[in-house]
Amino acid sequence: MTELSLRSITKRFGRMTAVEDVTLDIPDGTFVCLLGPSGCGKTTLLRLLAGLEVPSQGQVIVAGEDQTNVPSEEREFGMVFQSLALFPHLSVAENIAYPLTIRGRPKADVRARVEELLDLVQLSGLGDRRVHQLSGGQRQRVAIARGLTIDPKVFLLDEPLSALDANLREHMQVELRQLQQRLGVTTIVVTHDQKEALTMADMVIVMNEGRVQQIGSPMEIYRDPANAFVAGFIGTSNLLPCTLNDDRSIEVFGHRFEADAEDRIKGDPGSGLMLSVRPEDVRTEAQGTGPTAKVIFIRDLGESIQFVLDRDGHEITALYAPSARPDIRLDDEVGVSFAPGKRVVFPA
Ligand code: ATP
Repeated sequence: MTELSLRSITKRFGRMTAVEDVTLDIPDGTFVCLLGPSGCGKTTLLRLLAGLEVPSQGQVIVAGEDQTNVPSEEREFGMVFQSLALFPHLSVAENIAYPLTIRGRPKADVRARVEELLDLVQLSGLGDRRVHQLSGGQRQRVAIARGLTIDPKVFLLDEPLSALDANLREHMQVELRQLQQRLGVTTIVVTHDQKEALTMADMVIVMNEGRVQQIGSPMEIYRDPANAFVAGFIGTSNLLPCTLNDDRSIEVFGHRFEADAEDRIKGDPGSGLMLSVRPEDVRTEAQGTGPTAKVIFIRDLGESIQFVLDRDGHEITALYAPSARPDIRLDDEVGVSFAPGKRVVFPA
């Protein structure tokens, strides 16, 4: 059963359209990341799901029922805001208990639930502390626990990890994912960090300028980007002008590459198209047969070596494992080729 669906959702603030004509289905138990640049409408979409905003057009369907006009407090969704919004004058336990206290649940039940949640987020024994006596990661866990207090149908989180330093953030990404898998709750996380999305999600929804650009698994989004925006936004991508011939061979800088059945072609034959290739799928050889480019930068990243090349003002990045390092140096003119089957062509 589909847990959550949006049907042609549009949200305008005055003349500004924050979310435009979004239709999607989120299956029960899925971990979704809403990903896109600042201002693309991620938070607005999350708030529409939560019932904190009413759409200008369209419907929000939860478990088969139209909930478009059901207020937030009746949706039984858990939420974690970017600011965490913890109450500084309450203890950790009181913060976690809050959603049940305001619903007037019996004290003994509330206490038992809080103990359960403290255990779940690995904060047992810290219930009496004040929020300011916790580390950033611990505060994050309190906010997550509080979002789960009512055993929500859907768990919504807006940039929950953005205030944490890089190491803790990575750790919490794994923790959040494991927690979600254990509980099986449909979870939607807003992030502008593509690595975070690829690490955690079953389903990534890429947005730009209020519109959904692509919905897919992390692998689909990375390997088969729907358009140049997604290719450029997710991971590093080389984007080069190309021409597509009728036999699906691809011409780049005057060199013709044979067609491969696995190449993803999203445009009609002609010029004015764009080739997208990941750095790990670019090959360079001193006496290569492809178009030539000049090595302008070499960077040793430890686990890989990056070569940046220039051809007519277009940058091409190639990535190699240290054991496969090609014998090329700075300022060399080298031949460039692109792994067959790993090439994506779309309209520019
Ligand atoms: P960020 O990553 O920076 O948080 P976002 O992708 O979450 O951005 P939104 O917060 O959804 O983006 O905003 C989308 C657009 O809608 C922005 O241009 C924003 O200025 C506008 N917007 C959001 N809320 C309101 C509001 N209450 N009134 C007017 N405009 C708004």
